[in-house]
Amino acid sequence: MSNVPVAVVTGSNKGIGLAIVRALCKQFPGDVYLTSRDPGRGQAAVAQLQEEGLRPLFHQLDIDDLQSIRALRDFLKEKYGGLNVLVNNAGIAFKVNDTTPFAIQAEVTLKTNFFGTKNVCTELLPLIKPYGRVVNVSSMVSSSALGRCSQELQKKFRSDTITEDELVQLMTKFVEDTKNSVHEKEGWPNTAYGVSKIGVTVLSRIQARMLNEKRKGDHILLNACCPGWVRTDMAGPNATKSPEEGAETPVYLALLPSNADAPHGQFVSDKTVRTW
Ligand code: NAP
Repeated sequence: MSNVPVAVVTGSNKGIGLAIVRALCKQFPGDVYLTSRDPGRGQAAVAQLQEEGLRPLFHQLDIDDLQSIRALRDFLKEKYGGLNVLVNNAGIAFKVNDTTPFAIQAEVTLKTNFFGTKNVCTELLPLIKPYGRVVNVSSMVSSSALGRCSQELQKKFRSDTITEDELVQLMTKFVEDTKNSVHEKEGWPNTAYGVSKIGVTVLSRIQARMLNEKRKGDHILLNACCPGWVRTDMAGPNATKSPEEGAETPVYLALLPSNADAPHGQFVSDKTVRTW
């Protein structure tokens, strides 16, 4: 078994994830795994970084596929005995002019952004070693979408005692409510992406609390963040930040020094803790 520290970035064959891998290859003292659901796209991205003189490693990972997540988990367990840094970056968004029915957009978006991310956490968080760092890439859109939820939902999503099961029930209810065309009546905002990222931010707050309760002595720091508005296939060419600039906050959180005890359980953008 290798004692080398190891970092994994989900959805890193392009965009912000690729820029996070590039930065970690330069700054993280260990093995850095570029992961992709499609091995061809993943290997092409690895080759691109190799041409830049970097040495990322590759592992397949589709966060929609529990078998794929568990294969990575078993690989990390066997080869490294755990994991030091996990960046949950993989995500999807329908374009604003997409004509796919809203209920389908809700189901598909929540499936990857919330349920996929949650499944990766369920399988990989138990592997995180002492002083490990976990970064869940959410979005400022989670904050604006929260502001457009009913008071009752806002209270639940800001609660310091909400459980993961309760959050899963709420995210499931959103998808069901869109199918029955009652989501707005039920207090939800009209944004599937926004609700999925509320899920990611709230999940991060819950997971940080669980780490405090169960593994306080392990000094693990877990946060959600927004990379900013970044020029990628998702956000388009008019966004304000380059992928490298978008990677700055996630990388800052992934490389928080071992003597840091904060931020933890926070929502961070531009390296600054934001009020949830
Ligand atoms: P992107 O260029 O579209 O890249 C998304 C990445 O996620 C791709 O590598 C994609 O793989 C991967 N992915 C999607 N579904 C996956 C799955 N089921 N399993 C594994 N990988 C999957 O988007 P981006 O702008 O870099 O976004 C990265 C993260 O930042 C996302 O979580 C996004 O919501 C968040 N974010 C972005 C912005 C922005 O302005 N760009 C702002 C706020 C937050 P494929 O190539 O196979 O599709």
